[in-house]
Amino acid sequence: MNIDGKALAKATKENVAAKVRECVEKYGRAPHLAVILVGEDPASQTYVRSKGKDAEQVGFRSTTIRMPESTSEEELLAEISRLNADTEVDGVLVQLPVPRHIDENRVIEAISAEKDVDGFHPSNVAGLWQKRPHVAPCTPKGIMKMLDDNNVELEGKKAVVIGRSNIVGLPMAKMLLDRNATVTIAHSRTKNLPEVAAQADILVVAVGRPRFAGKDFVKPGAVVIDVGINRDPETGKLVGDVDYDEVAPIASLITPVPGGVGPMTRACLMENTLECFLAKF
Ligand code: NDP
Repeated sequence: MNIDGKALAKATKENVAAKVRECVEKYGRAPHLAVILVGEDPASQTYVRSKGKDAEQVGFRSTTIRMPESTSEEELLAEISRLNADTEVDGVLVQLPVPRHIDENRVIEAISAEKDVDGFHPSNVAGLWQKRPHVAPCTPKGIMKMLDDNNVELEGKKAVVIGRSNIVGLPMAKMLLDRNATVTIAHSRTKNLPEVAAQADILVVAVGRPRFAGKDFVKPGAVVIDVGINRDPETGKLVGDVDYDEVAPIASLITPVPGGVGPMTRACLMENTLECFLAKF
């Protein structure tokens, strides 16, 4: 059965929208999300457009700042510091990846932790790992909401996360661990990967390769979360990291691509922006 990320994202955003209406009454203005896009990467442009659309849908003020590919690191850092200082901006996000001549880590560190709606700033990362208040990264946060919404039992279950990036794999593993799952983090050097993955009650695949995980990766009845967003090299269609046609018949629950993790990631971005706004009062 599919986990309907789209429906849960809609409900999550409706909930945010209701709170935004209260904010306007109580504090005199709606939260304001500023998104910076450097360069013209087509996928990034699509993501930024969707984020702006979602922000407007929930009633936020939304600003998209487009900077040319040739923007220097100093210019980008100056723009971030202007947004950090602007008391009427509540959330700041730089669409990743940035052009190669810009140091991504410096960009992430430059965004004020209180406005870091992506949850990538080192102090938010530390907050997650040390169980202190933090802004949670949107993709794993959205996945946890989908698991909860579908009443997936986590305590004592075996979870395997394939992928160990700072933005998906690692925080995902930590969130599952905090819910008392027994977590294995697999990666490109993992030996006998299908065998390791097939132990999982909950399998999260965040690798970035079209249809990477087939039915040999999946224990019958497992819950399968497909984080991947890839273009099928033959058809150009959007596909996940999981071979949906092979895996859906044996998984108890699976997130489709599109319509699974992606919409929930964006809904959590809206939630994070609202939280950053409310934390000011
Ligand atoms: P990264 O490229 O940063 O990380 C990929 C991870 O996959 C690495 O840890 C890498 O291992 C591992 N990996 C690569 N090849 C293999 C292999 N052959 N066997 C096992 N592990 C492998 O990607 P991200 O984490 O940023 O993203 C992963 C996917 O999720 C992408 O498709 C991305 O587009 C998508 N994504 C989707 C989001 C959404 O909203 N739905 C949000 C963010 C990302 P190693 O560390 O050893 O190199």
